[in-house]
Amino acid sequence: MDTLRDTLSERQRAMLAEMGIRTHWLPRAKARLAKEKGPCQPDAAAPEARAAAPVLPPPAAARAEAAPAGPKAPARTPGTPEAPGTPEAPGTPEAPKAPARPEAPAASAQAVADMDWPALQTAVAQCQACGLCETRRQTVFGAGARQARWMVVGEAPGEQEDRQGQPFVGPAGKLLDAMLAAMGLSRHADDAIDALEKRAGQAGQGGQAGGPPAEGVYIANVLKCRPPANRNPQPDEVARCEPYLRRQVALVQPQVILAMGRFAVQSLLQTSEPIGRLRGRAHQYAGVPVIVTYHPSYLLRNPPDKARAWQDLCLALQVMREQTQP
Ligand code: SF4
Repeated sequence: MDTLRDTLSERQRAMLAEMGIRTHWLPRAKARLAKEKGPCQPDAAAPEARAAAPVLPPPAAARAEAAPAGPKAPARTPGTPEAPGTPEAPGTPEAPKAPARPEAPAASAQAVADMDWPALQTAVAQCQACGLCETRRQTVFGAGARQARWMVVGEAPGEQEDRQGQPFVGPAGKLLDAMLAAMGLSRHADDAIDALEKRAGQAGQGGQAGGPPAEGVYIANVLKCRPPANRNPQPDEVARCEPYLRRQVALVQPQVILAMGRFAVQSLLQTSEPIGRLRGRAHQYAGVPVIVTYHPSYLLRNPPDKARAWQDLCLALQVMREQTQP
């Protein structure tokens, strides 16, 4: 019986090695994802299949009360450790008091919903809608291809992100890049349409040494400002920041969102369920399928769970194929 590990291509094995995944970690169960193309083959076709803009539910400005019922202890470790399928571990360290919200309001959710990229970026950079504006060095807007079939949503900026103004930097960012590379994606790549056209061109020419070009992906966080000492974001902060992410999703028009880390997942899906209970199936945010997986910071601390993360990436690839195939 074929197993996932048996059916990996050389390229996939190399990519998994880059992620630090040893193939003996991969599950023995027959890969249900290995259908027509073999397991976890990045979808090299279907440039035509960009879906229409997702139908956005009404702006959720008033969703503060419905924001995720996080653990009582508010400290946040990016990618909080979590045994799959088990309840959340209580938060760790310090729980500094949330700063008082300043007077200056944010642009209204309706105004944000009408913004183009430059206006949205400016609005975020100037935002004082919650108290995090008082402690941030700078906002972390997002990065990557602004026309992309793929979007990664993380939790909130950490110290390095706050310093550099970029999401997912440092060791966790490197691991994220390796995970994306394993899927044929890159935050530094062309927009999706360009990459897919290049792939199609290469396929027409019988392929090219070095493999197909990576496809672009857009990366953003639920919160655009760093919570002090990496404490858990407060429901009010999430609610005030949520229109920005919602608009980013509407502008990017991704066909699959990869939600990374407990807090990102719980915020996006409005649930307090642990990641372990949410993995393995597609959820929805703003009409876009959401696949749940672990935060790279968590995976750095728990390397054996990289195999589970790989399964999640495989599921995401399968969902993308289903999205793009007629
Ligand atoms: S976290 Fe979001 S809502 Fe709060 S100040 Fe920053 S950009 Fe504005």
